[in-house]
Amino acid sequence: MRPVERGDQPTDESGKPIRFTKYQQASPYLKERLGRYCSYCEMHLPAGLHVEHIQPKSHHPQQKLDWNNFLLACVHCNSAKGETDIIATEYYLPDQDNTFLAFEYTADGSIIPHPKLTRQQQHLALKSL
Ligand SMILES: [Zn+2]
Repeated sequence: MRPVERGDQPTDESGKPIRFTKYQQASPYLKERLGRYCSYCEMHLPAGLHVEHIQPKSHHPQQKLDWNNFLLACVHCNSAKGETDIIATEYYLPDQDNTFLAFEYTADGSIIPHPKLTRQQQHLALKSL
């Protein structure tokens, strides 16, 4: 999978961290850094990418405007994830783990846990899919 490197919070011309008042304001910075790809399924989308909250904003309102809680997601992945709380140690996350090593793409287009993972790693990879 593509590496997802969000980087530090964007800064303005004077070097001060930009304080977002709406999470949608992060969209151009995320698209510039991550490319126009869904952070989960990697689909390239010229339009229709949304700012995704890793921790759902409904359960974690304090993280609604937190740069480190943002990814980009297509409408399918965003709605599939829904309001699931994420415990980072229970999933492989595209911005924290090298998911390139966790999955294998098969000839028929499926994505499976990489066969060289340990049993526990395969369990995490399956859960992440
Ligand atoms: Zn997606």
